[in-house]
Amino acid sequence: MIFAHDTEVSLASTVALINTAHEPVGLTSTEELDAFVTEWRWTGSRTHDEAELKQVLRLRRRLQAMWLAPEETLVAEVNRLLQDCRALPQLVRHDEWDWHLHATRDDQPLGERMAVEAAMALVDVIRSGELERLAVCAADDCDNVLIDLSRNRSRRYCDAGCTNRMAAQAYRARRSKV
Ligand SMILES: [Zn+2]
Ligand SMILES: [Zn+2]
Repeated sequence: MIFAHDTEVSLASTVALINTAHEPVGLTSTEELDAFVTEWRWTGSRTHDEAELKQVLRLRRRLQAMWLAPEETLVAEVNRLLQDCRALPQLVRHDEWDWHLHATRDDQPLGERMAVEAAMALVDVIRSGELERLAVCAADDCDNVLIDLSRNRSRRYCDAGCTNRMAAQAYRARRSKV
């Protein structure tokens, strides 16, 4: 493991949130947001309305820009998110999860809780000097972001099947030269 377990889960859910922007059907309705929330096992209060969805979509755009931003910009954005959402880190233990950090209250809006979870995870990445692990998929026709959690920082493609697709393409390219 490169980071603490809860950090890695948060990074994975942040990547998934950003990449919904590139899915054919990705967070275009409150129902799709419900499905995302269920899939990533978000607990806490919900309003299930357009305002909630809009706030999450605004956050998605912001996080996507942060993923690609230079270090200084990313740091400033992380600090701003933590401040805007009045993050207050507290150790908690619930369901099957052992001690981990919550920095928001359960009654804060979903968008704020998602923002702080992403920001707290990025805090770990930044202060461990591991920023190069935030990457964009190397496939030319894919704009997905990824978090490289491999030991030797060798990950190049996102989870959307790009590894297999690129391998098949390379194979065809080799075959056509024979
Ligand atoms: Zn928790
Ligand atoms: Zn990809």
